Amino acid sequence: MNLHRCPYDGTPIEAEAYSGGSFLLSCTSCGAEWEAHNSLVLRVTPPDWDAARRAMAEGPPVTTDPVTPT
Ligand SMILES: [Zn+2]
Repeated sequence: MNLHRCPYDGTPIEAEAYSGGSFLLSCTSCGAEWEAHNSLVLRVTPPDWDAARRAMAEGPPVTTDPVTPT
């Protein structure tokens, strides 16, 4: 598996174990989903392009802290 970040917005992808040793990968920013079978990755859900663009403009979520330090 070589998909660690969403190719549309750079968000770290969450992997969920699936049946038969496969994984369901999903991006929490744009909602895109992939199925990973060994080295084969198939996209099953297209991204919400508006959300992807917004996430792109704001940068990766790791650097976006909603809590402002005081
Ligand atoms: Zn995404």
